[in-house]
Amino acid sequence: MEERGLSISFDLDGTLTDTSFVDAVWNEGIPREVARIRGLSLSDAKDMCAMEYAKVGELSIRWYKLDYWLGLFGLGSLDTDALILKFVDSIRLYEDAIPVLDECRKQGLKMVVFSNATRPFLDREVEATGLSQYIDTFISVPDDWGMIKADKEAFTRLQTMFKTPLVHAGDHLYSDYEVPKSIGIEAYHIWRGSGPRLESSLYGLTGFMDRVLRAQKRT
Ligand SMILES: [Mg+2]
Repeated sequence: MEERGLSISFDLDGTLTDTSFVDAVWNEGIPREVARIRGLSLSDAKDMCAMEYAKVGELSIRWYKLDYWLGLFGLGSLDTDALILKFVDSIRLYEDAIPVLDECRKQGLKMVVFSNATRPFLDREVEATGLSQYIDTFISVPDDWGMIKADKEAFTRLQTMFKTPLVHAGDHLYSDYEVPKSIGIEAYHIWRGSGPRLESSLYGLTGFMDRVLRAQKRT
């Protein structure tokens, strides 16, 4: 039997949740530990971390792996879960997230979170936000599939999970927009107030919902 409707894939950090939590772990939590173990000022430790992060860059899977960074900084014995737990109070959904997820659910759309966050981050965010009330499937692309969204194969594989057309939304211009579009997936760039944007970028998820409803009518 032919299935109707759409499947919607959401990026997590910077799309459904704001980035205060991940920023706090990477730009406060880790530098604090680096400062402690190396006897540096916090400011010097922050500079050092930022420089090392930049050397690797976000198009490498290592960028997302906390264990890699703790090893590099000589913090391999640190309890990663404890480090992350210190910042869970900063986890926040954008105001437009729940209304849009609720509407997608009312429309009977299948939803998935497709994230470059590794499991220790993703799982805490899901717990803190209650997103599992709306979404059944959460994919940590690095931890569950050993790749990142910058790899076309990740979106190709995602597409095979659904019988209905897939629409993806996310805040990263390359990984959430250009890559899925390059293999024919309908994608929307959600611009949250910083970083590069296009004329077609949407200023939040409400505008995205309108596009989805229009696309739904075409299926
Ligand atoms: Mg993002």
